[in-house]
Amino acid sequence: MPLRDETAPRPLRNGSCTPFEQMFDYLIVGAGFAGSVLAERLASQLGKRVLVCDKRPHIGGNAHDHFDDAGLLVHKYGPHVFHTSAPRVFRYLSRFTKWRSYEHRVLAAVRGTLVPFPSFTDAFQAMPLRGYTRLFENMLDNERIAIVLNTDYRDLIDEVRFDKMIYTGPIDSFFDYRFGKLPYRSLEYKFETHDKEVFQPGAVVVHPSESAYTRVTEFKYLTGQTHAKTSIAYEFPCADGEPYYPVLRQENAEMYRRYKSFADQLANVRFVGRLATYRYYDMDQVVAQALAVFDEIRGTRCGSGGASIIA
Ligand SMILES: Cc1cc2nc3c(=O)[nH]c(=O)nc-3n(C[C@H](O)[C@H](O)[C@H](O)COP(=O)(O)OP(=O)(O)OC[C@H]3O[C@@H](n4cnc5c(N)ncnc54)[C@H](O)[C@@H]3O)c2cc1C
Repeated sequence: MPLRDETAPRPLRNGSCTPFEQMFDYLIVGAGFAGSVLAERLASQLGKRVLVCDKRPHIGGNAHDHFDDAGLLVHKYGPHVFHTSAPRVFRYLSRFTKWRSYEHRVLAAVRGTLVPFPSFTDAFQAMPLRGYTRLFENMLDNERIAIVLNTDYRDLIDEVRFDKMIYTGPIDSFFDYRFGKLPYRSLEYKFETHDKEVFQPGAVVVHPSESAYTRVTEFKYLTGQTHAKTSIAYEFPCADGEPYYPVLRQENAEMYRRYKSFADQLANVRFVGRLATYRYYDMDQVVAQALAVFDEIRGTRCGSGGASIIA
């Protein structure tokens, strides 16, 4: 079983120890914003030893970006534009990145013409200067944080010793779908690199009705990268795939409430982030939620209770 992705940045800190040779204060499931913010806070502010585990081969969750074969920085899970009106969130993230000022403009293709499309209105809008993954690398760069990638937490839960868990994966999966599967809408992306500097006149062009795809993103507008080529992504809606947008229906809210009532009974597990709370959150909202959870943890005594993790 591959426990570590040797190609990933800083897969495992803590010297030569494997994660299994030591006791962790926290096992954090998920290396997206929810898990990474909490790992950083717990390690840097409370001196906790934290093991972060993600089943994907990279950190950053859905905000992960990487350089494609042509050397262009692209967003693997769709275009992510950072925006917030929360000064605390902005101040916090600014510890881990410089910013590139950016004003997001979206165009819509209507009967062959491009017209402005309403977009985001927060006070602060910018992009991390070196990208999201670099931001996450800086956030997780702490000798008290170990990272294991390519690993479902269920594959290591019996082998690793830890006191508490922070879970940022899907809540229905945690409870083995005992009340049913919470539905999501998903998206597929088709990436292309074109042998020209510019493909379209803005970062995102929405195609409301005329094509199978709904949006085309050209990443250079977001990243500010200078390159002779350009990479784009076509976005296609689909029912199956990565869990992206919760389907907001009464019966789904009811199913989530049943899961939450089970989750609330687990003293040693906290459910944080978009998948664990079955909500659509923007990145700044997830960061704010994680900081609020950290405030709670810091404000309460973290005893070493021995309640079982899996209900
Ligand atoms: C298409 C799209 C575009 C978006 N654009 C924007 C935008 O422009 N601006 C904005 O502010 N927000 C945007 N968002 C929202 C943003 O992606 C989320 O707010 C953010 O990623 C949520 O962080 P998270 O940590 O809660 O979840 P995630 O980033 O999903 O992280 C959860 C992690 O848990 C891991 N995991 C799950 N189950 C397991 C398991 N069993 N074992 C181990 N690991 C597990 C997953 O692999 C994942 O990496 C967009 C979302 C989507 C879907």
